[in-house]
Amino acid sequence: MKLNIDYQEKFQARHIAPNETDTAKMLKTVGAASLDELIGQTVPQKIRLKNPLNLPAAKSEFDYLNTLKQTASKNKVFKSYIGQGYYDVIVPGVIQRNILENPGWYTQYTPYQAEIAQGRLQALLNFQTMVLDLTGMEIANASLLDEGTAAAEAMFMQYSLRKNTKANTFFVSEEVFPQTIDILKTRSQPYGIELVIGDHRTVELTDEMFGAIVQYPAKDGQVYNYADFAAAAHAKNIKLTVVADLMSLVLLTPPGEWGADIVVGTSQRFGVPMGFGGPHAAFFATKEEYKRSMPGRIIGVTIDSAGNYALRMALQTREQHIRRDKATSNICTAQALLAIMAGMYGVYHGPQGLTLIAQRIHGLAILLAKALGELGYEQLNSSYFDTVKFELGVLAGPIHSEALNNEMNLHYNGSTASITLDETTSPEDIKTIIRFFAKVKGKTLNDVNFDELKASLETVIPAELQRQSEFLSHKIFNSHHSEHEMLRYIKSLEAKDLSLCHSMIALGSCTMKLNATTEMIPVTWPELGKMHPFAPADQTGGYMQIFDELNKWLSEITGFAAMSLQPNAGAQGEYAGLMVIRAYHLDRGDDHRNIALIPSSAHGTNPASAAMAGMKIVVVKCDENGNIDVADLKAKAEQYKNELSCLMVTYPSTHGVFEESIIEVCEIIHANGGQVYMDGANMNAQVGLTSPATIGADVCHLNLHKTFCIPHGGGGPGMGPIGVAKHLVPYLPGHAVVNIDQGKSIPAVSAAPWGSASILIISHAYIAMMGGEGLTNATKYAILNANYIKTRLEQHYPVLYTGTQGRCAHEMILDCRAFKNFGIEVTDIAKRLMDYGFHAPTVSFPVAGTVMVEPTESEPKHELDRFCDAMIAIRNEIEEVENGTLDKTDNPLKNAPHTAAVITGNEWSHPYSRQKAAFPLPYVADYKFWPSVGRVNDTYGDRTLICSCPPLTEYEFEESEVTTPEYGT
Ligand SMILES: *Cc1c(COP(=O)(O)O)cnc(C)c1O
Repeated sequence: MKLNIDYQEKFQARHIAPNETDTAKMLKTVGAASLDELIGQTVPQKIRLKNPLNLPAAKSEFDYLNTLKQTASKNKVFKSYIGQGYYDVIVPGVIQRNILENPGWYTQYTPYQAEIAQGRLQALLNFQTMVLDLTGMEIANASLLDEGTAAAEAMFMQYSLRKNTKANTFFVSEEVFPQTIDILKTRSQPYGIELVIGDHRTVELTDEMFGAIVQYPAKDGQVYNYADFAAAAHAKNIKLTVVADLMSLVLLTPPGEWGADIVVGTSQRFGVPMGFGGPHAAFFATKEEYKRSMPGRIIGVTIDSAGNYALRMALQTREQHIRRDKATSNICTAQALLAIMAGMYGVYHGPQGLTLIAQRIHGLAILLAKALGELGYEQLNSSYFDTVKFELGVLAGPIHSEALNNEMNLHYNGSTASITLDETTSPEDIKTIIRFFAKVKGKTLNDVNFDELKASLETVIPAELQRQSEFLSHKIFNSHHSEHEMLRYIKSLEAKDLSLCHSMIALGSCTMKLNATTEMIPVTWPELGKMHPFAPADQTGGYMQIFDELNKWLSEITGFAAMSLQPNAGAQGEYAGLMVIRAYHLDRGDDHRNIALIPSSAHGTNPASAAMAGMKIVVVKCDENGNIDVADLKAKAEQYKNELSCLMVTYPSTHGVFEESIIEVCEIIHANGGQVYMDGANMNAQVGLTSPATIGADVCHLNLHKTFCIPHGGGGPGMGPIGVAKHLVPYLPGHAVVNIDQGKSIPAVSAAPWGSASILIISHAYIAMMGGEGLTNATKYAILNANYIKTRLEQHYPVLYTGTQGRCAHEMILDCRAFKNFGIEVTDIAKRLMDYGFHAPTVSFPVAGTVMVEPTESEPKHELDRFCDAMIAIRNEIEEVENGTLDKTDNPLKNAPHTAAVITGNEWSHPYSRQKAAFPLPYVADYKFWPSVGRVNDTYGDRTLICSCPPLTEYEFEESEVTTPEYGT
């Protein structure tokens, strides 16, 4: 036996599912002699890359983790007392292992298909309930990207709601975190909103002001009573946004009780690691009357087809897909997984547990303040929750050095320092701080009456700001406090949700590929999780190296000069990229360039982002083949040549086709003075074969949660870094706290300098383990898998658009509109797929009445076949409806999905069998996934909006109240 010791396990072979035998079979089916021949027929020659990607050789999973461990160890994990919106936490183990580290939760998609998403919908409803209780508001959403952008959304909502259209001034308390103010600056610029930054105690409120924002507790810890300010603002028709710290609200009078119109903030300190900036879920809560103007996703209670309690995303008509440039916000991917974690932290601790945690933090802060007071330090804030601020004078330097010697970071500003405590702080930690504060004065801990102080701690919150109202009184927050109960609660919800653990989720445009375990493992390493985003640069070497590498690799992949890793989602990348384009034009004196050309087939976030960047939208037509109508584009580009800012274009198009005209399209835009923004959602069809720079784009975002393997988390997190050509590099986003200025940087678009830094590791791992060849193969296989499905399904469903040689790119649109003639809607097909154990592909985007299918390279032939078999079987059922074998209204499509309760009920009145309903193909038995509710009724819930956990006894429907659901019985 000869032994080969050069064998190296290849990650590529794990990520790309089809093996050699299956590849050969699939190529045969699609009628291509080789993979390269297929690619040659799909991707236009003139845009193909000349050279292979220049990336480091692929690492095995084992090697990658070892290397990354070394890199990560270049981060110095000091104890963080910096605060400023980021706090160390204790992630309950049961939540870390069973949610954050669990593919059953993190590989879920956004809950558009509510019937197979009741678990996360409930978890998000819990989050909303918790936010409402703590803030004292009436309606809350299930998450925004971060505190700073939530504040900007609040400002903009106030702006949209203003009665006096001449009012365009917004008051910003100077004691709001600087990163938040930075984002407000960015967001206010395009609309000419004037920010008045000052002291809320002395500012003169004017008729020109439409809104105001204050922070509670303020940035250096002071807890102000804003009641008089709120009343004065309201007297002037000024609405008030309050940025609040959720943990402090356990002890403080909620803003809803003293006049807030909107309350926003981060929920990070509810059990979500700092992760050098994210991901964390921001919350947004307001009054019922503003529900239609509210940004982000709202989970609401409704009923299913049997009249039972069910949940779904409410008020969807507010979203960008429908309202486009009139949308109230461009938020698409938010922070669902992190909102779920924060909500679960509330469930786990309950009101008593949270009170103990908050009281301990508050008590330790008082202990520290008193002790340092005894040492003769001058404290600058009088009423505080967790942050104490001191004037250090000449001792600032020595204190700083001592803190570093003790591996501690405080927050320094001139000769002052503030110290923010969190749930990880112990009395021993307080002693350590006291020791070095004593030492620099030649004293010791013994000069402080520590035990006496500790025994007599009294709150410093003024009586009128001490919370009196109950919170988290709902049963959900008072039941799951033992670990077994908590574990079973988490698992019971997980079991209701279909994820990639069960079957492929073939979402066109949304690219649900493998989120490999090895890519996920480092996310919860303390070297990465416990880093504060404002930690001093000499402690962050590990992250810096990872960012440098990722930046280089993504630049190579896109062909661009540089990236900004700041935007927290694709839509945020669009906004950032457009703001960069805007800054470029302004810098050249082209202040009239404000028109964005956007093809009619564009994703809704494109017009919404362009509107946010202050642009006017001109829609470009598509021709009957789904391609951009080049003549129309040319006419419009020339018509607006003096005002043209940019074109936003998705490539390959949202129709799943590599348009041959793309280079010409970009040239037309450039010839008329515009820039080309490429929406990178479809990069999974480009990597290694072509690139945004090659087709002629100037900017693009990458959805790292699509193409680069960050999981979708049931609706977030994501990352949307942007790449830019050389002339745009100077304008890439800066940051108010961490200097990442490029010369002419626009202000920040995210609260943290590198966005959701900790999940950038996932994309870093993916690229490092695939290497250039692996990434290119992934793209080729994505195209093969799509064309395989196309070939198998095109006799059954018309495929709407293809390239010149009849090939689709990495996805295709199946036309279901003709079935309407015999009463079958595309929704019926989507719901029926659940009975077969599948999540529907993308429904009605970009064309109403169709589904868009994208299999990705990570699905094996076996799984593609199962999906195709289901689609074909459904097509046969439609045929049976058409020819009368099945009833027109009482059929398995209209009644889908079928729950176990319905199937096993004593009564079965339908003219088709239970077997046909629940086990329509032989393989289903092995893969059966039971939807936990029947078809949800969207309109019912929107009519009587309930967005928090309803008291269980009150949520019983009278028979007469149950209106006929929208979708049949
Ligand atoms: C997903 C997607 C977006 C939005 O990206 P998010 O990360 O969800 O904000 C924009 N355009 C297209 C074509 C998309 O598929």
